[in-house]
Amino acid sequence: MTKTAESFQFKAEIQQLLNILVHSLYTDKEIFLRELISNASDALNRVQFEMLTNHDVLDPDAELGIWLSVDEDAKTITIRDTGIGMTHDELIENLGTIAKSGAKEFLERLKESKEHATEIIGQFGVGFYSVFMVAKEVEVLSRSYRKDAEAVRWVSDGSETYTIETAEKPDRGTTITIKLNDDSHEFANLYRLENIIKKYSDFVTYPIYVGEGDDRRTANQQTAIWRQSPSEVEEEKYNEFYKQLTLDFTDPLAHIHLSVDAPVQVKALLFIPATREGSVFSLRKEPGLKLYSRNVLIEEYSTDLLPNHYRFVHGVVDSEDISLSVSREAVQNTRVINKLKNLLTKRVTRALEEMGKDDPEKYRKFWDEFSPFIKEGIATDPTTIESLAPLLRFPCSTCEPDELISLKDYVEKMSDGQEEIYYLIADSIAAAANSPHMDRFKKRNIPVLYMVDTMDTFMLTTFREFDGKKLQNVETAKLDDTDEDTAIDEAAKEKLPDDQFAEVIARFKSVLGERVEDVREAKHLHSSPVRLVAPEGSEGQEMERIRRLLEKDYKIPKRVLEINRGHPIVQNIAALLKTDFGKADLLIEQLFDNALLAEGLHPNPAEMLPRIQKLMEMLKG
Ligand code: ADP
Ligand code: MG
Repeated sequence: MTKTAESFQFKAEIQQLLNILVHSLYTDKEIFLRELISNASDALNRVQFEMLTNHDVLDPDAELGIWLSVDEDAKTITIRDTGIGMTHDELIENLGTIAKSGAKEFLERLKESKEHATEIIGQFGVGFYSVFMVAKEVEVLSRSYRKDAEAVRWVSDGSETYTIETAEKPDRGTTITIKLNDDSHEFANLYRLENIIKKYSDFVTYPIYVGEGDDRRTANQQTAIWRQSPSEVEEEKYNEFYKQLTLDFTDPLAHIHLSVDAPVQVKALLFIPATREGSVFSLRKEPGLKLYSRNVLIEEYSTDLLPNHYRFVHGVVDSEDISLSVSREAVQNTRVINKLKNLLTKRVTRALEEMGKDDPEKYRKFWDEFSPFIKEGIATDPTTIESLAPLLRFPCSTCEPDELISLKDYVEKMSDGQEEIYYLIADSIAAAANSPHMDRFKKRNIPVLYMVDTMDTFMLTTFREFDGKKLQNVETAKLDDTDEDTAIDEAAKEKLPDDQFAEVIARFKSVLGERVEDVREAKHLHSSPVRLVAPEGSEGQEMERIRRLLEKDYKIPKRVLEINRGHPIVQNIAALLKTDFGKADLLIEQLFDNALLAEGLHPNPAEMLPRIQKLMEMLKG
């Protein structure tokens, strides 16, 4: 029963990838071993999972492991596993097309920046094909766990084609034989391979045996580090484990290692990465935690164990309470999962809250990277407000330049009569600090939180109260009418009598026309000449901002312009109205532009330049 080998063409994108892999001056060639071991480990996970429900597999009693050997003279490496194996069609499907592997992502990134191939290649799990960095020929001999499937041999030299033929292999699993190319003979050395395994694959949960006969030894630790007691694990081990799990290059910001027996049995090791970017290049291609039960990997990416807003958390969860005999779909809905989710969510929140208290510097790093996730949580799920609000931080009007404060600290700063938490929406801290809405708060020394993040406005739609105190936008805040305000008004009236001020208002109205809803006297301004406020009954600044972000053709509704009667510029205008309408109008136009700028509403600030120059020309010594 001899059958000649069939020949196939690689899909175009694989040819492209192979070309890059083989010809780039790639310095980290050694990662080919990490990729092959990772595939073997995946295959072992899959067969182990299959055997939970299906006992009718080939070689049910075979030890689950990975075996590595070299032939130093022939310059070959062999990697064998007792995993799930592949059939003829699966070989074509898995090794002839780029399906979901990191290779595809790699090629996409490469399209963006061609010149950095060698730099970025190391950041991706490039998968099986990375073997061609070291191989001049690769043979994959595989036999599926399905009893009726024949063994198959796949051979390729990494050029455009590969061949497949039926083969002899009595036992389940995959054996990959690599003929090293002339530049890669260094890898035909067991010690070298052992070191690579320690570096990249130490925590693989199956034994990786190297060598043969009496010389055979286990190269990896295989420790399920999350199953150890936290007091036994050194800090450095956590970092190593994290890096092998994610392929992130930086240490994580924090880890949470927990071991709980009730209300649900669980051991878990969760990590908060140092950066968001780290996870973009990550080996972990999707969000989600690795879910184990009694050492069997149940799900590679479980997204049921933490709420969506904690999707930046990586790690491993291991619970004996998950019954192993149910299908993947059923597992997801068990009450156990809900209990786990509850518990893990609380632990992550608590860890962050404690970090905020005990290590503000570290927390600041967390906040700078991940604040949008926390705000998103509040915006999308109001039930999270109570637990997430303590994590929030904001710049504020009485803070140091780079300082952020928590709501709790804000509440402590509140003066005796103050009942509400005041905030100001602006595009930047600088814009907030110079906003005319701040006048009366500065005057009274009342702290105001600056909401300068896009996510803030979304969050404010659901988040309206903290610690029993209302969150109040300064634009529409009603402060007590104090003596100070009236005093200013009296002084202003003396300088600008009613009839003159009425003329000023009228002139503003006729110059600005349709551009404003109304013009009226300001009650709350001190150092600013004018400000824009939303008319009564409008949707409010928060909704406007959201619409501006979401609706392409959204036009901000017209505003009411308020004029500070006591301000010198306004008094100048009053005087000019008696002598030079042209100059008065220039000032009116400029004040309106200034007000738009202060609100972050100016469509094109550069348009103001000719007028500003004209005004400057008038300033003669
Ligand atoms: P990825 O591992 O990201 O899916 P790879 O390029 O590393 O991408 O591997 C492609 C596919 O080939 C795997 O998804 C798997 O289906 C199959 N495969 C590779 N190695 C093995 C193996 N040792 N045993 C069984 N299947 C394998
Ligand atoms: Mg892989």
